[in-house]
Amino acid sequence: MIDLLNNIIPSTLEIYATLFRSSLFNEYVENVFRIWTFALRWKRKNYNKDPLMFLSDLFYWNDNNHPFLNVIKNHLTSFNEYYVENTHSRIRANTSKNTTADNIIKQAYIIMDHDPVFKDTYAKTRRYPYNATTLDFLYKKTTLFLLQYFQDVFHNCGKSIPILNKKTTENAKKINLQKKAPPKNSTNKTSTKKTSTKKTPTKASAKASKKKSPEIYQLATLNEEVDLRYLPTAYSTSHPLHHELCDCCGLPLSNDNSMVYICSHGYHVACYNKKCKYCKEYYKRGIFENVNSFLKRIEKGENKLTKEDLDDDENDIEEGVDEVSEEVEEALDTSSKLAAEIYNIEHW
Ligand SMILES: [Zn+2]
Ligand SMILES: [Zn+2]
Repeated sequence: MIDLLNNIIPSTLEIYATLFRSSLFNEYVENVFRIWTFALRWKRKNYNKDPLMFLSDLFYWNDNNHPFLNVIKNHLTSFNEYYVENTHSRIRANTSKNTTADNIIKQAYIIMDHDPVFKDTYAKTRRYPYNATTLDFLYKKTTLFLLQYFQDVFHNCGKSIPILNKKTTENAKKINLQKKAPPKNSTNKTSTKKTSTKKTPTKASAKASKKKSPEIYQLATLNEEVDLRYLPTAYSTSHPLHHELCDCCGLPLSNDNSMVYICSHGYHVACYNKKCKYCKEYYKRGIFENVNSFLKRIEKGENKLTKEDLDDDENDIEEGVDEVSEEVEEALDTSSKLAAEIYNIEHW
């Protein structure tokens, strides 16, 4: 709850609407990092790299006294991605998951060529659908819902539990079936460990159940089983929290000398030392792994991109399907086109 209300909701609401649009550069950058931590935890394939690229650019500009740093600092709002995002959404709406890269590119050309909607995006006037009375009603309805919901959360404190040895609901069914087979079965964590070391069929699965923390949790108020990525960062780290105990010294926490942070780890004031050491490790590892994976991806994609660039230069969209069979022919064609283009510069 603390993670949701003090971390996720404010970050996602403020990053663009407040920080970006108010040109609060430092706060914006801090929030970019914060949002990266969500993407890391949620295991998002691209967003767990994208903010790191932006931050890497900033550090580079900073280290090299690059003038671009001041440009972006002083004119943050000019770097508006609205057109990109808007076009991206429209391309997505017009293509399916399985569309090939070439077809997506073609579709984008079509969208941009016949484009009355794009131009009219801002010019459209729509009547606002709510009046003051409706808004007041909705405000009260929402407040009532939240009050009742928070009350449930309060009453269910401590009732949400991890479901051990359960990776997904489907896997869980299988595991449950397997579990029923042997007569001796225990839900206790330590004895499960012992059983798995002795009896599980493969070494790998024994290792997994030993090392990995639970991946599924039963949330009491929602009455749902959720993947750990929906929970605060602490659950994803090597050291999941211990309720009401200090995550540093292991002694009980009390209201006057300790605090539970947005990651859900709790520390005595004296034990905290200005950072959560487990989450810091988790983020450091996340940066390292994603930067490496991104670099690998760039290296792998480099040749492919160059080839696509060439194809784009020498073929119209309609002709893109035709294959140029011989490299010599390809090179000649490019050369003549290049010569024509250079000649055309005079007539621009
Ligand atoms: Zn402590
Ligand atoms: Zn933490």
